[in-house]
Amino acid sequence: MAIKLEKVVETFYENLEQGKIMGRKCPKCGAVEFPPVYACNSCGSLETEWVEISGKAKLHSMVLPAALSSKPEYKALGKYCYGEVELEEGSRLNAVVRGINKKKRAELLDKLPVACHAVIYQRDGYKTIIFDLDEE
Ligand SMILES: [Zn+2]
Repeated sequence: MAIKLEKVVETFYENLEQGKIMGRKCPKCGAVEFPPVYACNSCGSLETEWVEISGKAKLHSMVLPAALSSKPEYKALGKYCYGEVELEEGSRLNAVVRGINKKKRAELLDKLPVACHAVIYQRDGYKTIIFDLDEE
């Protein structure tokens, strides 16, 4: 099982390098797992397959990072929050969302959920996924 998990992570990052955001789709019930895992969390099927996700999503909640807990590696992001994001494909995840400070968060609170989209972000030596609001 550990070997399988490593493989899924490896394939995910290989695809990111090529600009593709991949999840795992369950052919039995159609659920998409993102971040990708082998087993379907909806029906328990182990037969999931790779699928490129659109990156379109909705932001449902926002938590601003506490000053003390904000990681130095995130400083390059500028303003950001942690948000609960729901992908068009249906999976929900907690992710970094750019462009949100205290004022912006207050403005957005009445409008939730708001549209956002995944972007591939170059971190120190590898790429990862963060989200930007659609309106900007
Ligand atoms: Zn399923």
